[in-house]
This record gives sequence, structure tokens and C-alpha cells, in this order.
Amino acid sequence: MRRGTLLGYSLPLHAGVVLRGQRLSQRTGLVVRLEQDHRTGEGEIAPLPGFSGETLSQAADAALLLIRRWVAGACILTDLDPSDGAQARQPIPPSAAFGLSCALAELEESLPTQAPYLSVPLCGGDSAEFIRRLSAPGDNPLAKVKVGLMDGREESRRVNSMLAALPRLHLRLDANRSWTAAAAAGFAESLDPALSGRIDFIEEPCATPAESLAFSRGTGIAIAWDETVREGNFYPCPQPGVAAIIIKPMLTGSLERCRRLIDGARQAGLTAVISSSIESSLGLTQLSRLAHWLTPGVTPGLDTLSLLGAQLLRRWPGSPLPLQSPGELQIIARVT
Ligand SMILES: [Mg+2]
Repeated sequence: MRRGTLLGYSLPLHAGVVLRGQRLSQRTGLVVRLEQDHRTGEGEIAPLPGFSGETLSQAADAALLLIRRWVAGACILTDLDPSDGAQARQPIPPSAAFGLSCALAELEESLPTQAPYLSVPLCGGDSAEFIRRLSAPGDNPLAKVKVGLMDGREESRRVNSMLAALPRLHLRLDANRSWTAAAAAGFAESLDPALSGRIDFIEEPCATPAESLAFSRGTGIAIAWDETVREGNFYPCPQPGVAAIIIKPMLTGSLERCRRLIDGARQAGLTAVISSSIESSLGLTQLSRLAHWLTPGVTPGLDTLSLLGAQLLRRWPGSPLPLQSPGELQIIARVT
């Protein structure tokens, strides 16, 4: 017998989390729970405001429709991954496809449970404090820094100082398409050439992919696609200067869709990096398992739990945040 439950959650977000100009105080989302013959699988459905194309209520409607079909005995995999099935009824929002595919994968025990629960640490602002944090023994010599927020030359001085302070450190930088070609050139010119070899890549330095490719050609600094991965019919291909693609499953779709992108990246000689979209600890632990399974040896970018005031249902190992239990979630629908 099959049973499905859709639950709603709301977690406090630290003041100051601004997404594309919108200040958020709560992270809201859904938990889908599928049960069959004493087996249970859970997944998180949490569209990210400003980034996802769907709203939470659109994701909930789509999920509920599929939960009903699954409980009635249907196989919903082709609905979750329409490109594989000509009979797909209608496109499923990426967040719903991701959460439902995680719940099914847990139920079918196809998502391995072991994971190292590691993330590339994200530098939030104070680089002196960040250098102290990274100096701790045993820390990973890889970190991520957001750039494109202030003057390019000032940012490269900051990057120089971090690389000079920590001689084993490698950096992934992320400009979120915010530099003009001139600002990107200013950044590159002020980088210390003796240190810049430890910049693994810059995610989307410029407003368009063509400008970002030109930046890489002109500077020799590798780039990575992030926003570009979710545009049009993106499929990884070898391009001079491109080192990696960033995959944010909550914005991308089902586990199968993510797996195809990862396979494509491997064939194109690119690194695939799994990355978070401010999921709860439930989604983050699943992303860690996914990364360990499909991108072994590549540390994912999951350092977003500290933006939240609580964990959800499952603990991220070592996090001191309190845990919301099932009783604190709102029941949206039970389907039997
Ligand atoms: Mg990015």
C-alpha cells in the first residue's frame, strides 16, 4: 500500500539575507514523504525566491498531483524527467521534480546513505575572520569567495591577501554575472600573478557567456558556468577557458536530470560541482549524499546552513542549530 504526505515548513533566516534585491526573513518550503510497505522516503521542495521560475504554491500543486498519481499506483519517473518520456503530461517545476525524485530514491534505496558532510566554506564578508577560520588545522584548503560586490581592484587585493596568508589555499570565486568587461579586467590586472594560479575558477564573471569567455581568453583565468547551466537547453561541451559547471539541483530538476548533466560534464572534461540553494538541513544532507555518489572527490558548495536559525527533521553533523521535528510542520495533504 502506498501513502503520500505533503508538509509545509518555515525556518527563520538571518536578517540580512537579500536575494536579488528581496529581503527574506523566513525560508519556506515543503517536505514530501512517500511510504510503501514499511519503507519511507523524504524529499525537500523549496523554490528559491528570485531564482526559481515557480512559486511555492505552484510547486505544491504540481507535487500534489504527482503524489496522488503515485499513490494510485502510477510510475511518475517520466513525469519528473520529461525529456526521457514522450508521454510526459506537463513540465514539472524543478523544485518539485527534485524533491519527489529524492523521496523516491530514498524509498527505493538508490540514493546512497553515506556522505562526508563537507562543504567548501563560503567567505561571507570579513576576510580576516575567514582567514582565521581557514587556518584551523585539518581545514580544507579550498574556499569560495563572492566577488563583484565592490570595486574589482579592491576585490583582487582581498583575494591576493587571502592567498598570500594561506599558502595552500585554493579559491573558487563567484561574480554572479555582475562585472562589466572593464571591472573584470580591473580585477584581473590587480591580481598577483604569483598567486592567481590558485584561483580554480571564477563563476560567471560577466553579464553574458560571450563576455565571460572573452575574459577567460584575455586573462588566462578559468571560468565556470552557473546561471548558464539553467538557461535554454544547456548541455555541457568543451569550451576553451571553461573548467567547471555548477549544478544547483533545487533549480535544475530531478536526480536523473542532474545525473545526465554530471555525465555530460565528465565527457566534456569539465568538473561538476553540486551546490545548494539555501535548503534546510534535510535537503543539504541529501545534496551531500548526492555529491558523494555522483561527483566523488569534488567538494560541493553547501555552506548555507548557517544562514538559517534551525535545522529540519535531520541533523547536519556538527551543527549546533536546534532541530524542528515532524510535529512542528504543517500538514498540507495526506493522500491514501
Ligand atoms: Mg554562482
